[in-house]
Amino acid sequence: MFNLKNEAKRFLSYHVGCNSRLMLWHDPWINHQPLVSLLSNDIVSLSDSFNLAPICSIISNRAWKPSSSNHVLVMELRRLLQGVRIFSRDEVLWNGNAKASIPVIWDSCRRIGIRPPWFDAVWHSWHIPKCSFIFWLMLQNRLLTRDKLLNFGLNVDPSCVLCRSQPESNVHIGSECLFTSMVLKSCPVPVSFSWNEWQAGFFTRGRTSRVKSQFAWLYVGVVLYLIWRERNNRIHHNGGSCHVDSLIVSVKRMVREKASTLASLKKEISRDPTLVTFLY
Ligand SMILES: [Zn+2]
Repeated sequence: MFNLKNEAKRFLSYHVGCNSRLMLWHDPWINHQPLVSLLSNDIVSLSDSFNLAPICSIISNRAWKPSSSNHVLVMELRRLLQGVRIFSRDEVLWNGNAKASIPVIWDSCRRIGIRPPWFDAVWHSWHIPKCSFIFWLMLQNRLLTRDKLLNFGLNVDPSCVLCRSQPESNVHIGSECLFTSMVLKSCPVPVSFSWNEWQAGFFTRGRTSRVKSQFAWLYVGVVLYLIWRERNNRIHHNGGSCHVDSLIVSVKRMVREKASTLASLKKEISRDPTLVTFLY
């Protein structure tokens, strides 16, 4: 955050009030720089002022009253002040907006990338953050699966602990593993098992309404979260293997719990009562 200080400066601007307590020489209220930087430190003594003077010390009756010296620096100060309006009170603005918020500030500073085709499937309005986080990592091949550990030079069994038949990787766990596909088949909306289709943003099969697509995205996100948790339990906690049927029960319970908090889904169910069957 500290390193962003200089980056942030260009978005800050100041409204100077007639009784302004902003620092005349050291706050960057003109051209994003302190006057001592724009005009040198000499401007303080040349203006018969003092180091920590407030801006109101050169305002009288809502008008600028700087020193009348004919020194070139003071003349430059008078020229700079001609373009500065005096407001009723001090305000620091972000990007011209007095109501700055963290999202506004973040969007101003960050480099905005191109959204991948699967963005909506992961970060839709019904998403469960912890599920979408795992979903997001998996689609970018970032979950620390055994193929990666082998690449790091670690001596680990390469096989998937869920199906015990194929090497473990993000692609395998997400869309190739027999265990995952058996759980995913329980989704009331038919979903694709093709990694390439997922990467292209297609998670459902055939024509699907937006509501049903969103339900499928929620369902797939929950499945992948619980599959990853089951995988970790088997490896790290010597947990007893959870059967596919038990996992499906957990998926449906989690989806129902989320659905019970979604006013928009309740509205959709009132329009199409058959959606209720999706939850059981
Ligand atoms: Zn597997």
